[in-house]
Amino acid sequence: MENTDKKLKLIFYGGVGMVTGANFILEKTGELDTKKNFKIMIDCGLVQGGKEREKLNNQPFKYNPEEIDFLFVTHSHLDHIGRIPKLIKDGFKGKIYSNPATKDLSYLIFEDALKIMSYNSNEKDFLYSSKDVDKTISMWETIDYGVETKFNEGFSVLLKDAGHILGSSIVEIKCDGKSVAFTGDLGNSPSPIIRDTESVKGVDYIVMESVYGDRNHEGKETRREKLKGIIKKVIQKKGTLLIPTFSVEKTQIILSELNSLIENKEVESIPVFLDSPLAIKATEVYKKYSHYFNKESKETINSGDDIFNFPKLKLTKRREESENIKNTPNPKIILAGSGMSMGGRVMSHEIEYLSDKSTTVLFTGFQVAGTLGRQILDGSRNVNIFDNDIEVRADVESIFSYSSHKDSDHLLEFVEQAGEKVKKVFVVMGELKAGLFFVQKVRDNLDLDAIYPKEGESFDL
Ligand SMILES: [Zn+2]
Repeated sequence: MENTDKKLKLIFYGGVGMVTGANFILEKTGELDTKKNFKIMIDCGLVQGGKEREKLNNQPFKYNPEEIDFLFVTHSHLDHIGRIPKLIKDGFKGKIYSNPATKDLSYLIFEDALKIMSYNSNEKDFLYSSKDVDKTISMWETIDYGVETKFNEGFSVLLKDAGHILGSSIVEIKCDGKSVAFTGDLGNSPSPIIRDTESVKGVDYIVMESVYGDRNHEGKETRREKLKGIIKKVIQKKGTLLIPTFSVEKTQIILSELNSLIENKEVESIPVFLDSPLAIKATEVYKKYSHYFNKESKETINSGDDIFNFPKLKLTKRREESENIKNTPNPKIILAGSGMSMGGRVMSHEIEYLSDKSTTVLFTGFQVAGTLGRQILDGSRNVNIFDNDIEVRADVESIFSYSSHKDSDHLLEFVEQAGEKVKKVFVVMGELKAGLFFVQKVRDNLDLDAIYPKEGESFDL
């Protein structure tokens, strides 16, 4: 007997109205065979962007974690995974799935987040403990790209390469003849390292990111030249090039770019410090999963070149080594986390170097509103770092085409490639302006139904 009350419902709990805090639930109800009713969560990310907003992370979940059966993880950025151990702490007993590289990187990110928590907050405010992290990892299974996995509850899952960072996946879920693609973040393909974003041809619904929904990046051809120019200028003015960098993907892209510029003798070889224990460990994970790299990178590696290593590169794992960087005479380059200057060693370097005219700060990724990185990028001449008032006299540069996110035109192209079956595009993970702009762009250019959902809103599919 067919049950007419069967429903597939999509609920938006986070990552709406903002870039960060991705958290969505796909819920099946009304099956007579109750084993076929389920709640699938996609991502459980941290809200980022200033102390006020970040208080949201400590609040209870707006659903009962015990009722969630599955969690699928698109990729290992904090704004997609940062609250997972809290979800476990608060009662989630289901299974977690992702690509294997995402699992490895997530473990590193959780450990690092615990360290940052221990510097920044009282133990009672910790989101979770290392025990919760260990439990999380023990519940976490892996699925490779391109392997459609069927679950007894009556749905199937397929992970496609999102091309955003190592392991990043688009999660395609099929149930009762309907299909939904959760994009996670979509890569700015082609990447110097990983493969291009796969298409989601034939899906009915897309839940997609819109970080750069209202903006296009400068051409990729120019970014290498621009980086070269910035390094040359720093050498000329005998300064420090400070690159606040995201530990996963951005660091590896910049390293591979420096590797090629230095080994081709396009710029003079100067000391380069990779001053981030997390980025150093993440680079090791990249090496472990080099089978996910694109053809060009694999060929370079096969020819015997370590694409993440070159003369005068120094990996500074220990704090004392980090503190000693200032004793190395200029010119030099420092890559340090965190990417938005919210915690991490880059902040000590900013105290040291921002007020120096010979310094250049180079931003290579999106800076969320409310972060120190955004303040510097927006041209603040005075910033406060750990109670130090710092005058910003450094040059501030940005190369956003190093972004790991698709720009507006490429996001549109991604939707277009999905084809005519698409019934609705849910535009999420973007600030209001970017999201609304992109909704309109999809409607105008593709004549498709698109919406910028509100927090807590749900839709029957
Ligand atoms: Zn991401």
